[in-house]
Amino acid sequence: MEREQKGILIVISGFSGAGKGTIVRELLKKYDNYALSVSMTTREPRPGEREGVEYFFTDRKHFEETIRSNGLIEYAPYCGNYYGTPRAYVEEQMEMGKNVILEIEIQGALKIKDKFPESLLIFLTPPSAGELKRRLEGRGTESREQIEKRLVRAAEESEGVEAYDYIVINDKMEECVEELHGLVEAARRAPVRRREFIQEIRNELKGFAQESAEP
Ligand code: 5GP
Repeated sequence: MEREQKGILIVISGFSGAGKGTIVRELLKKYDNYALSVSMTTREPRPGEREGVEYFFTDRKHFEETIRSNGLIEYAPYCGNYYGTPRAYVEEQMEMGKNVILEIEIQGALKIKDKFPESLLIFLTPPSAGELKRRLEGRGTESREQIEKRLVRAAEESEGVEAYDYIVINDKMEECVEELHGLVEAARRAPVRRREFIQEIRNELKGFAQESAEP
C-alpha cells in the first residue's frame, strides 16, 4: 500500500483586503486535509479578534525573545508591527499529513521559499485595484491613515508577484476556493514533493533487478 504522504507547506499572500481570510476559512471548512498556522503579532487585536484564533497577540519584547530562541520559521515587519510564524505547529501538522497554510505577506513568503523550496506560493488578488480599495474601505476596521498605508504597501507588493508559483483572482468566493484546492492537489503530485515515494520505488526496482541478475 502507498505510504501516507506528508503535507505540503502553502503560502497564501495577497494585498490587504484581497479576501485571504474568507477564502482560507472556506477551504478549511470544506476539506479536512488542511491546517492553518496561527501567527504571532505585535499589532493590537481588532474588535472581535481572539487570542490564539486570529493571532497570538504579544509585545515586542516577547516577540524578539521568540526570534532568538528559533521559535519562528519566518518573521517580518509590516506597517509598524512584527508578524511571525511559530515553528512547532507547522512541523507537527505537516508530519501528520496536513497541508499547512501560512497566510503571510511577501517578505515572509520569500523567506519560506528560500528555506523550504518545496513550498507552494500562491498570490491572491481581487479582480482590480479599484475593487481592492472598495473592500478595504468597506471593511471599516482600519483608520483612513491605516488604509492609505496598506494601499501604499499593496503597490509595493504588486512588484513582487512574479516570485509566486500561481496567482488566483478572488472574484467569486466559491470558485476561488475550488481553484486553490485544485492547485494544491496538483502541487502534491509534482515529483519534487514526492521524493520519498519515488525513492522507495527506485529501491524496490533495484532490488528486483539485483534478484534477476543473480545466477
Ligand atoms: P493584518 O494586520 O491585516 O492581520 O496582517 C497584515 C499582513 O501581515 C497580512 O499581509 C498578513 O498576511 C501578514 N501576516 C500575518 N501573519 C504573518 C506572519 O506570520 N508572517 C508574515 N511574514 N506575515 C504575516
